[in-house]
Amino acid sequence: MRDVGKTFANGVTALAGFSLDVEEGEFLSLLGPSGCGKSTVLRMIAGLTAPTQGEITHASPQAYRGSGRALDFVFQEPTLMPWATVYENVALPLNIANLSPAEARPRVDDAIARVGLAAFAGAYPRELSGGMKMRVSIARAIVGRPRILLMDEPFAALDEITRFKLNNDLLELWRSLRVTVVFVTHSVFESVYLSSRIVVMTPRPGRAFADLSFDTPYPRPAGFRTSADYAANCRVTTEALYDAMGSAAA
Ligand code: ADP
Repeated sequence: MRDVGKTFANGVTALAGFSLDVEEGEFLSLLGPSGCGKSTVLRMIAGLTAPTQGEITHASPQAYRGSGRALDFVFQEPTLMPWATVYENVALPLNIANLSPAEARPRVDDAIARVGLAAFAGAYPRELSGGMKMRVSIARAIVGRPRILLMDEPFAALDEITRFKLNNDLLELWRSLRVTVVFVTHSVFESVYLSSRIVVMTPRPGRAFADLSFDTPYPRPAGFRTSADYAANCRVTTEALYDAMGSAAA
């Protein structure tokens, strides 16, 4: 994304001079206060809304043809069909893509197993906890084998213990699927735990204020959340966020 700006029809300028390179295979978090334009960035990457300034290019469009979908989205709300089972919800993108039930089945089974819900394929959303519904939503996003997974505060509505578990499981999915993740959050702690790289944004109109890379290796050890390394990374990120907030007021 090069010098991207977005001004909505109502005159609100969500982004101005926003530049970002997303590298293949990274786990990138966009961190910033509510309203700074994070969701707008994701929606523009997905082609759901167009920039009013600047440009967005995919370095190798041919890489997105063939085996899988270019990208898929996970939202804060799981947005499941309440009348359909877990299996039917996860199968939806393949049905829309006109795969036959026989072609779809192994892929749907695989996606459901990867999020740990193999025993719940026949369950309905009302029978599932919030964390399980989010797992279904993630399974539906990975069933099309996207190259890029766009995640918009997917765990913000979950309790902390569930969120920690889903953080770990998401990192395992990211590693095993070799998917590029662009993850939106306003949590310093979540972004530091998950990311190989964090782009800190200014308040609206959002632009990239700091670009932080941490060399903590993956898989991140069990004690990472309570380690001095994690605390130090959180401090650096918090300071960058404070500086980003201050830069807007100036
Ligand atoms: P974030 O994800 O960081 O919370 P958003 O990208 O959702 O921020 O929104 C950035 C700003 O743009 C907000 O002030 C929001 O109200 C505004 N906005 C988002 N979508 C629209 C829209 N379709 N029309 C008008 N304003 C919008």
